[in-house]
Amino acid sequence: MSSPCPRCHQGSVDRYLLVATSEQLFVCDECEAAWPDDRIDLIAFSQLTDVTEDRGLTPLWTELRKLGDDHDSSDPCS
Ligand SMILES: [Zn+2]
Repeated sequence: MSSPCPRCHQGSVDRYLLVATSEQLFVCDECEAAWPDDRIDLIAFSQLTDVTEDRGLTPLWTELRKLGDDHDSSDPCS
């Protein structure tokens, strides 16, 4: 499920896996704002490029794998 981005109001925020570290991130596909959890707001975001560079990775979408909702059958919060 995508959320509208509170930062650019144009992109949508989806859940991604940062493949190299197995971290989950929420990233806007338009402005590349990234959140470490589903608290999507204007305070807690980082730039995707900063997140990847902090981990010694290339700031590219190829580091990410989009996580599809249809494969997520174990959501403890719902
Ligand atoms: Zn955005």
